[in-house]
Amino acid sequence: MQDFIKNLPKLAKDKHNENKKFFAKLKKKPPKNLDYLMEDLHEAEFKRTDCLDCANCCKTTGPLFTDKDVDRIAKHFRMKTQQFINQYLRVDEDNDYVLQSVPCTFLGSDNYCSIYDVRPKACREFPHTDRKKFQQISNLTLKNVAICPAAFNIIEEMKKRIK
Ligand code: SF4
Ligand code: SF4
Repeated sequence: MQDFIKNLPKLAKDKHNENKKFFAKLKKKPPKNLDYLMEDLHEAEFKRTDCLDCANCCKTTGPLFTDKDVDRIAKHFRMKTQQFINQYLRVDEDNDYVLQSVPCTFLGSDNYCSIYDVRPKACREFPHTDRKKFQQISNLTLKNVAICPAAFNIIEEMKKRIK
């Protein structure tokens, strides 16, 4: 797994043009069963891939924190919302709350998330490969395949299944 993660940026770069073309075609004419297919592919991949062997998303890119996330996590720590923001977050160029630094401060050395039950929505949903109308997030997915080995595999499988 570690070798795969190390090589992932290069593998994703090599596939970038092919993936871009694939998603452009997918957007124009998404198959009727796309939602079901993505559910299948997602489930099959995450049976094989254990996020605890990876944690590359938590190590290299932080999530966005919605206001609801901030309130929920601050409450979990019994902190005032503003105190939590000051300690852990910053506002990025898109005006969103993000982590002050990566790897995520809530990630343990065993790859467990110390706030798993209250983690941000973006963490719960990453890499979004079981999302409905998956063709609508192709730009995001083009980036995610360079971070997430599972997303990379899912897109490779998608290309085999959708001609
Ligand atoms: S979601 Fe992807 S990048 Fe994150 S830990 Fe799981 S396999 Fe790794
Ligand atoms: S909050 Fe948890 S799941 Fe989200 S990036 Fe941090 S360690 Fe990973």
